[in-house]
Amino acid sequence: MNLKSIKNRIYADYFMPSRLDEYNNMLEEFINNDFKFITIDDYYNNRFNTEDKIIILRHDIDSDLKIAKEMFEIEDKYNIKSTYYFRLKTIDIDFMKYLNKKDIEVGYHFEEIATFAKKNKLKTKEEVYSNLDNIVKEFERNLSYFKDLGIEVRTISSHGDWKNRELNIRNLELVDDNLLKKFKIIEAYSIEDNLDFRIMDNPYPTKWVGGNPREILKNDYRRSLLLVHPRNWDSCFHVRLKEDLGRLLKK
Ligand SMILES: [Zn+2]
Repeated sequence: MNLKSIKNRIYADYFMPSRLDEYNNMLEEFINNDFKFITIDDYYNNRFNTEDKIIILRHDIDSDLKIAKEMFEIEDKYNIKSTYYFRLKTIDIDFMKYLNKKDIEVGYHFEEIATFAKKNKLKTKEEVYSNLDNIVKEFERNLSYFKDLGIEVRTISSHGDWKNRELNIRNLELVDDNLLKKFKIIEAYSIEDNLDFRIMDNPYPTKWVGGNPREILKNDYRRSLLLVHPRNWDSCFHVRLKEDLGRLLKK
């Protein structure tokens, strides 16, 4: 990281004013132009009108529950359906149940490879591969934990941790077709093959990677996906401090 990107990162994480008005305006414009928002599970199971211009809206809640809740309040004003993925450390049972009641999909943002590697001080990819059976067991346990909480997980998305970058292995490598079939779950990236457009938000000042939401309007794309991370839309001093300390202590 050069000095400028360190400065940007500190600003985005600790001091940036909320960008939720910008989020609101973006959604409003899509609604005004007859776009319909749906969940990952709805898309996979063809629960949408094929005539409609649709946007699959996915949230990966990495750290900031408060911002996730504010985002949902905005979406709810427009009756927008979407998918929210929770990590084990961002689970909020009341919020999850509230979302379910509103017909919003709640999924699991999984990261067992990174968690297992940190806990057992694995240093190489090969060590991960030789422990894969145990890591899968961990995944199964965590998935049933959601069930115990009364949350039916139908789709999952893979989280990216500093440990994944260190080991050069994605959490996604844990799941194969057999595992997905066994639990009757869908992996979020697997639905993306036939989309017209797909973008992801990015921390300030880049804001988006893979394109810009305006391109959806301009080209009138019929099948798009927006992946957003609540943390990119507001700063949150104490959450970021905790996260950065955790990273320093290699937790
Ligand atoms: Zn994530």
